[in-house]
Amino acid sequence: MPQPAAPITRLAPSPTGALHLGNARTFLINWAHARQTGAQIQLRIDDLDGPRVKAGADQGAIDDLAWLGLDWDGPAVRQTDAPEPYAQALAQLDTAGHTYRCPATRREIAAAAAAPHAGAHDVRYPGLYRPENAPPPIAPDTPTAVRLRVAPGVMRFADQFAGAQAFDVDATVGDFLVATKAGLPAYQLAVVVDDHRAGITDVVRGDDLLSSTARQALVAQALGLTPPQRYYHVPLVLGPDGHRLAKRHGDTRVAAYRDAGVPPEGIVGLLAHTCGLSDHLTPWTANAFRDAFDWQRLPPCPCTLTPEHDTWLRNLS
Ligand code: GLU
Repeated sequence: MPQPAAPITRLAPSPTGALHLGNARTFLINWAHARQTGAQIQLRIDDLDGPRVKAGADQGAIDDLAWLGLDWDGPAVRQTDAPEPYAQALAQLDTAGHTYRCPATRREIAAAAAAPHAGAHDVRYPGLYRPENAPPPIAPDTPTAVRLRVAPGVMRFADQFAGAQAFDVDATVGDFLVATKAGLPAYQLAVVVDDHRAGITDVVRGDDLLSSTARQALVAQALGLTPPQRYYHVPLVLGPDGHRLAKRHGDTRVAAYRDAGVPPEGIVGLLAHTCGLSDHLTPWTANAFRDAFDWQRLPPCPCTLTPEHDTWLRNLS
């Protein structure tokens, strides 16, 4: 009988901006889950998205996580440190006929899609450059992205927290990007390659990525890889208006609270409260959070951050 893989998870901040309370909550849950279950933790800086990466945000994320009291095993790794496996994966997909080049712009895709009023991001790719659709020739030197062919059908998986999931990637997204026009591996490919090379068994992340999990399963399948064994998608933190936490909700960056003199225990205490671990607001250490964290108590609905939470935090300084 093969031995079960040793559990390992990853904290994977994208250095495209500073960590805010919503990111901190997901990382704290991820860390507590790992430390409770004896899983190793890789700190992975997801820095492939060149144009959106902000100088210093990688170190900022490392500093914020350490300040909150989180730790990890081994040095931080960066996607840009070892890009060869992405190129190998793209070559493998190409050789096996799973991918094709696509020069289409967002505007062309939106114009050709069945639902012309949908926002450019929700539009299903209508197969414009699928070779079997007899696309127009691609002029030399035209920048092309690379798309994975998606077969019809529903992809199902069981999320350990969010429950049974079913996504029809073909009907909703269509053939999706695995490399960008800038020649970079797209997120859906990079995450599969990264999780595989680190042997990741447990993925804990925001539930905005639930539908991506189905796409990642298709990439893994096309590459002949086994996806991580367990996914836990946790609800996002929202502002009082019901929208995802953002700048307009005020400055909820971890570093801004730190600079204002708020202690890390304040932030962890607030997050413990939102995770169902205490019915009132009180400071907590990360270690206390780790010991108390319980998936059964984590509310399945999004967590709303209010101005009262912010005031409570700032009054601790
Ligand atoms: N780096 C990604 C993010 O911050 C997370 C990647 C993942 O968990 O798959 O959104």
